[in-house]
Amino acid sequence: NTPLASYDPEIDALIEKEKYRQFSGLELIASENFTSQAVFEANGSCLTNKYSEGLPGARYYGGNEYVDQIEVLCQERALAAFHLDPKEWGVNVQPYSGSTANFATFTALINPQDRIMGLDLPSGGHLTHGYQTAKKKISSSSIYFQSMPYQVDTATGYIDYDRLEANAKLFRPKVLICGASAYPREWDYSRLRSIADQHDAYLMMDMAHISGLVAAREAANPFEVCDVVTTTTHKTLRGPRAGLIFFRRHSDAARNKDLESRINQAVFPSCQGGPHNNTIAAVAVALKQAASPEFVAYAKAVRANACRLGEALVGYGYKLVTGGTDNHSVLWDLRPHKVTGSKIEKICDLANITINKNSVHGDVSAVTPGGVRLGASALTSRSFTEDDFVRVAEFLHRAVQIAIEVQSSCGSRLLKDFVKALDGHAALTQLRTDV
Ligand code: PLP
Repeated sequence: NTPLASYDPEIDALIEKEKYRQFSGLELIASENFTSQAVFEANGSCLTNKYSEGLPGARYYGGNEYVDQIEVLCQERALAAFHLDPKEWGVNVQPYSGSTANFATFTALINPQDRIMGLDLPSGGHLTHGYQTAKKKISSSSIYFQSMPYQVDTATGYIDYDRLEANAKLFRPKVLICGASAYPREWDYSRLRSIADQHDAYLMMDMAHISGLVAAREAANPFEVCDVVTTTTHKTLRGPRAGLIFFRRHSDAARNKDLESRINQAVFPSCQGGPHNNTIAAVAVALKQAASPEFVAYAKAVRANACRLGEALVGYGYKLVTGGTDNHSVLWDLRPHKVTGSKIEKICDLANITINKNSVHGDVSAVTPGGVRLGASALTSRSFTEDDFVRVAEFLHRAVQIAIEVQSSCGSRLLKDFVKALDGHAALTQLRTDV
């Protein structure tokens, strides 16, 4: 029982440095958040030691008296946090992550080579929604299923539902997927349901990014019309890293028969082995938090802060995809300024501002994306206010000004030359100090 610091000072020191990095800089990655002490404690508990293949009450291992109670509590809290009637909805809390939750869902719903339609990655969709390029099938969801992604309208940045409907008529998907990693606007669930119904398709929502907002009723409710809803638990929901799959128990539609046993089978034994009980306990703690009045206030603040960040950037003359946001994220189009998202990400890294480059619809190459994705969830967890986000926008503006200046003086478009030219740059040093 030697403490980590004594047994492995090398790893301990790196963890301490990462802790300092996380709390001394400005964390603006839209998929990240700061989880609570209570979640950390459950996640780092003795539950790590336990194997429990199967479901509560039906395990392939002994010794699951307490683990069963934890998993049942997690299921109950998941349904309660999203205001679901246990007679109508069930949930599997075992997925290790959002990606495995999505693949297990496809495994449950359809057969190999069946057709799926999800939002294209360059339009803001996630890899696991069938991502492929013209040359290559990238995600297993496009390798094992036929994928025809839909896109946003390049003029507005909003999802082009008319084109989606027309393409669905040709492709006749078995699963229509909504949800995204970089889409700042609300979903038109009733339109999506009607498109799915035209082909007797499942409607699946991957609410990973916005699940905290859905729980707090700060986003439209996907459960009203969807057959299956998946999520990660570590983004706006502020839990440990894991996934959940919610499924409709009863419905008039024949497609929803037996969803419970199909989803449960798909998670284990089809896609996973033993559940990570420590994570399930930590998810249960996060779900208890998500059902509290404090969390509703948090989710409201996340949206207000993201909105204010967007407005402040627009105030500096910048262009946002769709012009603003309905959720926690802002998609910033830097192409009018002729700097790439990679260069802004690099400068921000050097100034202790953590962001990520992101494709913006119409980008020629996904390797040099023209945008940056920003999220307000993490800094809102650190009690940042709208005024603080106005200051954050000022820092980001300074980063872009530095990029424009250095790019024009360094005479090369290559990132490595750009980084070299940043060395010792006075405005960057000042920005790092101010951050
Ligand atoms: N779904 C969406 C919409 C996501 O944005 C992500 C991750 O960012 C995932 C799924 C995958 O989650 P994980 O990284 O836990 O596999």
